[in-house]
Amino acid sequence: MKPLCDRCGITRGGFKMSMFNKDWCCELCITVESRHPNYANARASELEAVKAGVKNYDGIGLPEDYGQWAKEQRLHLATTDERFLLLMDGLTNEE
Ligand SMILES: [Zn+2]
Repeated sequence: MKPLCDRCGITRGGFKMSMFNKDWCCELCITVESRHPNYANARASELEAVKAGVKNYDGIGLPEDYGQWAKEQRLHLATTDERFLLLMDGLTNEE
């Protein structure tokens, strides 16, 4: 299966499942989501589900307005975080 980010369409690099829902996300989207104020909640909730033996846990769901928030975070990181920018270049460069 060819990896494809459910959120931004990137097809390269590492992929992980979101903490909020079952989106399959690229490294950029994972980095962005881990900065969300609700991320710790989502993580704690996932841990509880695992402890309780829940199979196929769906997550707490994406926070409201997540799309807009993520777009702004991504832009913010791309202009302030060199590591993020390098990663972004590496994953989106067409060469
Ligand atoms: Zn992505």
